[in-house]
Amino acid sequence: MKTTRRDFVASTVAMAVTARSLHAGNDAQTGPGQSSLPVVVSTWPFGKPANERAFALLLAGGRPLEAVEQGIRVTEASANPSVGLGGIPNAAGVVQLDACIMDGVGHRAGSVAGVEGVRHPISVARRVMEKTPHVLLVGDGARQFAVAEGLEVVESDAHERHAAWWKQRAAERAAPDTPGSPRGNHDTIALLAIGLDGTLAGGCSTSGLGGKLPGRVGDSPIIGSGLYVDNEVGAAGATGIGENVMRYCGSFLVVELMRQGLHPNDACMEALRRISRQDPKGTALGVSFIALDKHGRYGSATAGQEFQYVATDRGGSELISSPGLGPLVRVPEGGNRR
Ligand code: ASP
Repeated sequence: MKTTRRDFVASTVAMAVTARSLHAGNDAQTGPGQSSLPVVVSTWPFGKPANERAFALLLAGGRPLEAVEQGIRVTEASANPSVGLGGIPNAAGVVQLDACIMDGVGHRAGSVAGVEGVRHPISVARRVMEKTPHVLLVGDGARQFAVAEGLEVVESDAHERHAAWWKQRAAERAAPDTPGSPRGNHDTIALLAIGLDGTLAGGCSTSGLGGKLPGRVGDSPIIGSGLYVDNEVGAAGATGIGENVMRYCGSFLVVELMRQGLHPNDACMEALRRISRQDPKGTALGVSFIALDKHGRYGSATAGQEFQYVATDRGGSELISSPGLGPLVRVPEGGNRR
C-alpha cells in the first residue's frame, strides 16, 4: 500500500488526482491483523466524509457492516443531489430511492428499491437483511417496513403525483423512452470496507437516474449488479447507467475476476472489456466499478465517463482518478452531473 497519503481539501483535489492517476489503486498485499488494514473505498469525491466515518469505526474495532451503514448514512443525510431524500426525482417529480447492503460474514444481503420518503434507505436495507427472511423489499412495502421498524420517514404524496403523471402521459400519447437512453443526472455512493480482522462488507445508496420512469429500479439494490461481497475474495461496487451493469451482473463479474487472481484494478478493467465487447454501446457504457480484495488492495476502472473514487486507510483519504476504457465523457467535479 502506498505510504505517501495525504488528506485533501477541495482546492487540492485536482493536484491529488494528477499525481495519483498514473498509478491508480494500490499494490502491496496485506492481511488480517496487519497494520495496513482497515481500508475503505467509495465512489466519487463526495464519498470522502462517508469513508472517514466508516474508517474511524473500523479503526476502533467496529464491524465492516456497521461501518458501511454508518458511512453511507453520512451521504444520505447530506445535501447530496443523487443520494437520499435530496436526490433526483423521477419523471413524475417523485424521489424513489434504491439501496443495498451486503455482509461478507455469513454472505448475507438486504435491499430496498423504489422506496419513497425514507430518510436512510441503507438502514432499511440492513433491517431487511437482519430482520426478515428476504433480501429485497420494494416500493410501499419497503416504506411500511421502515415505519414498522421505527425508522425515519417523511410524508409522501407520491401516489397522487404518479397517478397524475400517468394520466397526463396517456393524454399526450407520449412515446416510450428509447431503451438504453436514460436522461438526467445520477450518481451512487457504493462503499466497500475491510476491517481489522480482514472481513468485508459493502453498500450502495442512490436516487437512480434523473427523470427515470416511475418504478424503474437500477443496478444499485440488485445483489451482483451494483454490489457484491464475497469474504473469500473481495468486494465490488458500481456507479453509472444501471441498465448497462444489470445485464451483465457487473459487480459479481468483478469479484469473480479477482477470484481468478486479478488485481482489483485489472478485474474492474477486464469486466468493462467483456461488457463492451458484447454491448451495442461498446465502450460508451457510462459505467464505473470499484473493487477491494481480501488483502486490502483496491482499484477501479471506468468506461464512457470520467470517474474518481476515494480510498481511505491509515495514511488518510485520497482521491484517485480511475483508469479508463475508451473515450471518457467529463463528469463535473464532485461526481454529480448537473
Ligand atoms: N447506477 C445508478 C442507477 O442506474 C446511477 C448512478 O450510479 O449514476 O440507478
